Amino acid sequence: MGGLPMIRLSSGERDVSGIAPVMRLGGTLLPLAGRVRVYGCGITPYDVTHLGHAATFVWIDALCRVLHAGGAEVIMSRNVTDVDDALLAAASKAEVSYDELAAIQQFYFERDMAELGVTRPAAEPRAHGYVGQVISLAGGLVAQGAAYERDGGVYFRGRAAALRTVADETAALALAAEYGDRPDDPRKDDPFDVPVWQPSGQGELAWESPWGPGRPGWHAECAAMALHTFGPAVDVQAGVGDLRFPHHAYQAAMAETFTGVRPFARATMGAGVVRVSGAKMAKSAGNLVLVGDLLASYPAAAIRLLILDRRWEQDWDYDRAGLEAAAARLERLLAAAGRADRAAPGQGGAVAAVRGALADDLDVPAALGIAEAEGGSAARTVGTLLGLW
Ligand SMILES: [Zn+2]
Repeated sequence: MGGLPMIRLSSGERDVSGIAPVMRLGGTLLPLAGRVRVYGCGITPYDVTHLGHAATFVWIDALCRVLHAGGAEVIMSRNVTDVDDALLAAASKAEVSYDELAAIQQFYFERDMAELGVTRPAAEPRAHGYVGQVISLAGGLVAQGAAYERDGGVYFRGRAAALRTVADETAALALAAEYGDRPDDPRKDDPFDVPVWQPSGQGELAWESPWGPGRPGWHAECAAMALHTFGPAVDVQAGVGDLRFPHHAYQAAMAETFTGVRPFARATMGAGVVRVSGAKMAKSAGNLVLVGDLLASYPAAAIRLLILDRRWEQDWDYDRAGLEAAAARLERLLAAAGRADRAAPGQGGAVAAVRGALADDLDVPAALGIAEAEGGSAARTVGTLLGLW
């Protein structure tokens, strides 16, 4: 923090300096003035909301609150990937239409997010409404030679983007396979190519396209939704950290190639993955911790603190002891917030210090430490900025 004095955000300093303050996010400085566009990669609504989902969206929410409090006009978009092979398979198994399953699961997700105090985004694009934009994207990429048509599908040439993100080719291929990019698909020129448009078989969900009946590819959906919502670039591309490759890398590469605007995202925020006893929280692992279950026994603010009282990019393990510790920390913070200021409100440096800590790459542990030690307005400021009350 020492090298970035202008991120200390007391209004007095802003008035004196005349320079727009900034916030550090990872290696990027974001302006705390004017419009800041945040694209959050949202859920595929085919299953219940678990703590892993919640962690990502609580972190993005905290980022937006800190940006907003610093003076930025934050415009947040969080998409809904309601056209997705996993969702189609789940809908088929449950014998309901894909959009009915998606609407039901989206309802529960939004209820959980509201209970956790996650601010509703300004835009919530749903993939099924952007099929035309994906077809335009595919056509544009083919016209540039960055994608090619093959057997009713359109494939983006992704080798360069993949190896720019994950230098080790074997590791990149393993990730591509894990996230459903089918590197061994014989229709592709290169294992790192990914579908912008994929052909649908008999009985599968399909839209008409210049290449025959089909549906969008996952990475292309987010590229199309982001481009349509924000234009050629965003300030922050956010989501859970393990989407860095392949999803975020291909989304950005398709957008950059299509528009010619680089970088697609000024900053990226990949929130840490939530694990249980070292294993990523996932339905397939049978280790889901459901937000609804936690909310039945703990205040939403304790769950937010459990998520936020750490480095945002770090993967972490959930356990009950951690949740108890967060609930205890919340009590200490509430007690601190009830104390009188040691100096006159607005005069002391404690409020500026907690704002500075949060503006310095969302250093929540540092801000909480100052808040508990100083109490009064500093603690109340942290509670507000983290959405605890
Ligand atoms: Zn996405």
